[in-house]
Amino acid sequence: MRLSGAWMADPGTQAVCAMLVVAGHEALFVGGCVRNGLLHQPVADVDLATDALPDRVMALAEGAGLQAVPTGIAHGTVTVVANGVGHEVTTFRRDVETFGRHAVVAFSGDVAEDAARRDFTINALYARPTGEVLDPLGGGLRDLAARRVRFVGTAHDRIREDYLRILRFFRFHAWYGDDATGPDPQGLAACAALADGVDSLSRERLGTEMRKLLAAPDPTGAVQAMERAGVLTRVLPGAQAHALPRLIAQEGDAPPRWQRRLAVLGGRDTAEALRLSRADSRQMAAITDDIGPDGPGPAELGHRHGAWLAADIVMARAALTATTPPPRWREEIGRGAAAEFPIRATDLMPDLQGAALGAALRSLHARWVASDFTLTRAALLDTLRGREGLDP
Ligand code: ATP
Ligand code: MG
Repeated sequence: MRLSGAWMADPGTQAVCAMLVVAGHEALFVGGCVRNGLLHQPVADVDLATDALPDRVMALAEGAGLQAVPTGIAHGTVTVVANGVGHEVTTFRRDVETFGRHAVVAFSGDVAEDAARRDFTINALYARPTGEVLDPLGGGLRDLAARRVRFVGTAHDRIREDYLRILRFFRFHAWYGDDATGPDPQGLAACAALADGVDSLSRERLGTEMRKLLAAPDPTGAVQAMERAGVLTRVLPGAQAHALPRLIAQEGDAPPRWQRRLAVLGGRDTAEALRLSRADSRQMAAITDDIGPDGPGPAELGHRHGAWLAADIVMARAALTATTPPPRWREEIGRGAAAEFPIRATDLMPDLQGAALGAALRSLHARWVASDFTLTRAALLDTLRGREGLDP
């Protein structure tokens, strides 16, 4: 098994590997880059594991003229920047004690120990700078080929060390698992048994995990499994998975947007439950405010929210009401998004000022929207003045 990819061949990445190897150390790619590289999926960030101690990594990087930042030096991580790309270089470690999310770590010279402290077998695959793949646990490659997300060691014990792994289990299943076979039964049973551990996690972390999970091409199986395991409502009180498959079917080739999926899952105070950013909360509110079956049609939505948010609302509404969106809804959204209100405040001045001006503008705007964007400037001004036949 050999790994390759443009990210690996990057001169900066190879320079980081070379500075370690030339000094007699191991430089092993690990985690997402190996997993995704083997699956021919995009590689987001490059993580490296090494037997060199963190201070040594810092010194070697400086010697090689590379910028080294001690981003997580207490747990062995140094970020080495090369060719504009950050590489997280982490010394092999074994966790000697864990208190929830905080592990007391011991550095190790042994890649097998490093593999044993990782969460899932598909995340415990390594590769040399030459592309040679190492599977120290012996089950990672098999699980990756079978698209099986399996805990390293005993699921129950690994979750009790770190309850975030419950959410990571469902997230990795959403991205790399196989819905035909479903999540690994032992892992799922352990997540269900220990579901109350989710309550100990920060809302920000839950938000980060849910956003990543819902950005998977089809997160349906993972979300349904979360629901069955009693995890979903601990993350999002009141959420329901039943409309999600309809949404995914409706989406077709539309880019996956977690906001749209989250709106369909619903739940009480979603934005607050997941501590979403202000911008994301506003988007979620825009979707949920107009999602009802009697809400505005596609053209008006396009005008109000712009094309992609309007598309989110149309698709989410269809999924929640088990209906199909109106014909030519995408064109309709485009028409509404392109429509320009023909009246300016200056058109009404100086006759109207202040609050009266604002009220008149709102009323004209409402008439114009109700006319399906057809009323002209002249016609609108006429309605306001109660006069007929006035030239613009
Ligand atoms: P991606 O970056 O694509 O989300 P990744 O697998 O690189 O996926 P990271 O969160 O970057 O995930 O973590 C890097 C590696 O560190 C993982 O592959 C895994 O081996 C290990 N790891 C991360 N978080 C945990 C955890 N909570 N428990 C055990 N191992 C973990
Ligand atoms: Mg990563």
